Amino acid sequence: MALSHTSSLSPVTDPALKSEITDILMSGFYFLLFPRFIERFFRKTYRQTALNNLKINSIYMLITYALLGILVFLQAPVSDLGAFPICYGLGGLCLGIIATLSSIKSFNHLYHWYTGPVAMIALVILLHVAGTIENPDIKIAAYAGSIYAIITMYSMLKIRFFLVTFWCHLAGLIHLVILQLTQHEISFISFQAYFVAANLIGMGIAYVIEHRERAMFLQGLLLDIDKIEQKQLYENLEKLSREDSLTSLANRRYFDERLEQEWNRCQREKRPLSVVLLDVDFFKQFNDFYGHQAGDHCLMNLAKALKMEASRPGELVGRYGGEEFIILYPNIDEEQIQTTLQRILDRIRDLNIEHQTSTVNTMVTISLGAATAYPVRSIPSERAVTAADKMLYKSKNNGRDQWHNTRLSHCEAQPSQLEILP
Ligand code: GH3
Ligand code: MG
Ligand code: MG
Repeated sequence: MALSHTSSLSPVTDPALKSEITDILMSGFYFLLFPRFIERFFRKTYRQTALNNLKINSIYMLITYALLGILVFLQAPVSDLGAFPICYGLGGLCLGIIATLSSIKSFNHLYHWYTGPVAMIALVILLHVAGTIENPDIKIAAYAGSIYAIITMYSMLKIRFFLVTFWCHLAGLIHLVILQLTQHEISFISFQAYFVAANLIGMGIAYVIEHRERAMFLQGLLLDIDKIEQKQLYENLEKLSREDSLTSLANRRYFDERLEQEWNRCQREKRPLSVVLLDVDFFKQFNDFYGHQAGDHCLMNLAKALKMEASRPGELVGRYGGEEFIILYPNIDEEQIQTTLQRILDRIRDLNIEHQTSTVNTMVTISLGAATAYPVRSIPSERAVTAADKMLYKSKNNGRDQWHNTRLSHCEAQPSQLEILP
């Protein structure tokens, strides 16, 4: 039962804590105490388990208690029962109080504060009543009842071992004091039989229950951590499958996927879509002159700058090939894209990355090609990339460090008849 509660209650499922939790599990935790950070959450979990347990079992406990009482009533004349009826009733009332309080949500956090003392009072009453009965048969039945009560307190209420031990011993002590004050004879032999033995058995049961709950709690945490790790692994893999490792931009496969999605969306919404392809000018020379590492560094800087040019929803920058990048602009028409192209050109120039071997500029420059379309079903999205590539080629041929754009014909033509303007 503890497992089902761990994930909702504990924030100690940080994968960094995995080895620490495994160590605690291996240590055996014989003193029923975890390190502080875990103990707190275990207590919450255990309290919740206790409450659930009590909610399910309290009705059976009350019925059994009532049946036991009725059995005693039926077997003996009322004159032989002494204070039994009233005390038994009070014991039942204590059980009822615990059952009622456990069903009130706002009292849940006080579970240990009311269960222990109320159960202790009930136990004192039951222990006392046995001493007041004259009829020897009923007396034995009453002592047997106290034994059941002690065992029930240890095993059913799921109060933590040290607490329940404290409350039971306190009940025994108060019982002895009351016997002394009321000048009843104290027989330590019978006290050992009906209290000490039951107490020792109860302690054993409570220890085993709590130890098992603690083990289950730790295993639950480890399971939760495993789940988190698996999820993280899956997310990382998914991210890696989408990303270009050098620039962290979208890779070509992911870009194509997104282009297809946006193409369909713009088609449904009858909105324009623009694709921009850009290529670094004379990058081979850059590499040859400054070295491959400097080339990588340059590509990373370009990627960072381009990311800033595609920050609106649906927009995406990808690395399309070696020193070629691609940008997707849904909802941007032919006119707007021209301003964007100029802005991108300027932004890269403004990076001021020295390029002594370029014949167009002393700084790194790019050439751009763009295509704008109003997507229709008969034209595949790749047509936009092909058209942008043609415009990029034009920019290169016209001397680099510039942009050109076009608009895809949106007549319902077959792809083979596609007209590219201008
Ligand atoms: P153009 O202006 O016509 O585009 O000339 P270019 O030199 O840029 O084009 P070309 O296709 O001849 O050379 C591209 C160069 O880009 C060659 C290759 O070494 C370099 N390159 C491709 N990928 C990477 C990379 O990941 N890192 C580095 N450092 N260089 C790369
Ligand atoms: Mg190239
Ligand atoms: Mg190039």
